Amino acid sequence: SAPSTRRPIRDLPDELISQIAAGEVVERPASVVRELVDNALDAGATQVTVRLLAGGVRLITVEDDGAGIPRDELPVALRRHATSKIADLHDLETVVTMGFRGEALAAIASVSEASIHSRPAGQDSAYRLDARSGELRPTARNQGTTVEIKELFFSTPARRKFLKSDNTELAHCVEAVRRHALARPEVGFAIWHEGKLVEQWRAVVGAAPEEALARRLADVLGEDFVAQSVAVQRSSAGIGVIGRAGVPDAARSRADHQYCYVNGRFVRDKVVSHAARSAYEDVLHGQKQPIYALYITIDPARIDVNVHPTKIEVRFRDSREVHQAVRHAIEDALAVPRAAAAAAAAE
Ligand code: ADP
Ligand code: MG
Repeated sequence: SAPSTRRPIRDLPDELISQIAAGEVVERPASVVRELVDNALDAGATQVTVRLLAGGVRLITVEDDGAGIPRDELPVALRRHATSKIADLHDLETVVTMGFRGEALAAIASVSEASIHSRPAGQDSAYRLDARSGELRPTARNQGTTVEIKELFFSTPARRKFLKSDNTELAHCVEAVRRHALARPEVGFAIWHEGKLVEQWRAVVGAAPEEALARRLADVLGEDFVAQSVAVQRSSAGIGVIGRAGVPDAARSRADHQYCYVNGRFVRDKVVSHAARSAYEDVLHGQKQPIYALYITIDPARIDVNVHPTKIEVRFRDSREVHQAVRHAIEDALAVPRAAAAAAAAE
């Protein structure tokens, strides 16, 4: 029943604010992995290593060789709304980094036992900050950062109860890294679970972009993905679309090989998936799902990435142009084998 006497309005304690925010950002171990890998990539890492225990519930560590965090800034990194990535509204409209909200580390640390070890270039030693105690002490490490997250949701049993089996959580974590790996062939990734190497995607160096992408796609999604797809490359109205689109025969019953990126960020977007679907409408029948990996580049001023705390959605200022660009890019790409077959038949 409703309380008969109202309580006074009060500011919530910081810790509780972060825990509430964590409810939006951190759904499961894979959300932590996504945020930490985002940070590693934003720091310019060339190698990212993820280590997990019990599907990430007991332990997640993400280690990178990026720019690192200076000793004095370690406590700031954990504060809510503290970021090195934007400083004003103009920056927000032109943001190209994965992060910018400055809430992931604070949110994650509020529902776990977190620590950060880091060493930037030019600093004599690495430092380790323990989030809970605030203890900061020197430690050994090369340049880069390791974030360690233990006992996720230990303080929020309601959330912990929703977690699935370790294997399911692990699969989600691997998918989170896979999404990053498909966007960044020049970065090496490794995932360990319970001390065993689960996946390793080596950095592709010295290859032209299209070749690098094809190699990474083959590595991550399998040789078949590349063998059964054609290169997409088209640019119109300031919207670039590259990647690969599966031939109609490669379509699957599940939409599990549909990857879409906007300015390097993995997104789920209705405009793009509808555009892709329409590109296949004449060649694909029934419920079959096309396979594709599409990378859209667009002026950041023409999109809004600040729609959802997890940034998995974007809003396009001109979604019709994006729809057309994607549709035409795939149609052009698919026309290549069609034209070749027609030419062969005519001989
Ligand atoms: P955001 O990524 O939105 O800025 P986060 O809470 O994820 O917010 O991180 C806060 C800040 O901590 C970042 O802006 C960055 O300066 C620093 N940081 C976090 N992770 C790393 C990392 N792996 N390497 C270097 N700096 C990092
Ligand atoms: Mg971040």
